[in-house]
Amino acid sequence: MNTNNKLSRHCVLVTGGTGYIGSHTVVALMAAGYEPIIIDNLSNSKASVLKRIKQITGKQPIFYKIDLWDIAALDKVFQKYSIASVMHFAGFKAVGESVTEPLKYYENNIQSTISLCNVMTMRDVKKIIFSSSASVYGETTVIPIKENSLTAPASPYACTKQMIEQILKDIHVADPAWRIALLRYFNPAGAHESGLMGEDPQGIPNNLMPYVSQVAVGRHKKVNIFGNDYPTSDGTGVRDYIHIMDLAEGHVAALKKIDTATFKTPQIINLGTGSGYTVMEILHAFEKASGKVIPYRITKRRPGDIAACYADTKLAQKLLGWKARRNLADMCADAWRWQSQNPTGYP
Ligand code: NAD
Ligand code: UDP
Repeated sequence: MNTNNKLSRHCVLVTGGTGYIGSHTVVALMAAGYEPIIIDNLSNSKASVLKRIKQITGKQPIFYKIDLWDIAALDKVFQKYSIASVMHFAGFKAVGESVTEPLKYYENNIQSTISLCNVMTMRDVKKIIFSSSASVYGETTVIPIKENSLTAPASPYACTKQMIEQILKDIHVADPAWRIALLRYFNPAGAHESGLMGEDPQGIPNNLMPYVSQVAVGRHKKVNIFGNDYPTSDGTGVRDYIHIMDLAEGHVAALKKIDTATFKTPQIINLGTGSGYTVMEILHAFEKASGKVIPYRITKRRPGDIAACYADTKLAQKLLGWKARRNLADMCADAWRWQSQNPTGYP
């Protein structure tokens, strides 16, 4: 690799940057004047997203197909660019699969983070934003969920998130010069407003929003609603759905914060909207946005699901000056634009 290629703009290494959240965050970073450098092994995403990013931003982002385990390849990227900070999205994320294949999750999520942090230490890059998850809170919490709520991860996936948070906290104890933001996402949903980018799950979607949108486009016959006997307004589960571009902009706000402020400890921040919607409400909102009837049937509860979960968002507003701007109708309209224009996802 050519080592003279130091870019003048603030370079942000984005691991998992061709994935759902990473790719939308790359667009938000470029809009804010940053130079994202994407690393992804394409295990759960496609390189064709890069062309879509170019269509939206006018510029093809820098991309390396690298596995985070490959320390030598990763280090070359750090040598080539003056990387100021890292956004770490890469990892496996299917909760159900993590229960049946726990080692795959511990191995990939933990090992890739350790490799990344080793290279960051070697190259003296000490600013990182990590994709954590509301799943670390588990069942035992009071809602809305505050950042200091007890954690009780209920799956190997959620355990990897808690362990990585701990690893990053320990790194900070050893060297307080690190600036670390641990962002706990609630339920990312929707797509870029252009309809050019969106969520493209491989295989049958595990999550509600992409499943509903694939039913609307005719890829599945009906939505299975996992239980209608929860103590919620209509008996179906309540979650805090956050528009993917709000989430992306939340990352830019967090990056500005770690660039300018020092935290005594790694800073945990919820990224959600603070509002919860039931499964039935999501279904009806999507019917409205798409003009399609979405058939459904009620099935039994999904093991491990909780009745309701939504964020207390005060800390994000106070610390980052950020809050979600888009509503459920926006999420459904944008998801439908993406799904109807790209019925089978990225080429
Ligand atoms: P995604 O699967 O679309 O993106 C993750 C990317 O990481 C993929 O492109 C994949 O190819 C890449 N990757 C995985 N292992 C890698 C490795 N060893 N080396 C290099 N690349 C690797 O997932 P997403 O929805 O964009 O999620 C991004 C992050 O946010 C994940 O860490 C996920 O756990 C977390 N998160 C997601 C959600 C959600 O509902 N989508 C909620 C909370 C937290
Ligand atoms: N859900 C559902 N059918 C599906 C997928 C999800 O009824 O095909 C419900 C699920 O029980 C939960 C809500 O939709 O109440 C959100 O589920 P998702 O998997 O999207 O997010 P998570 O449970 O991880 O918050």
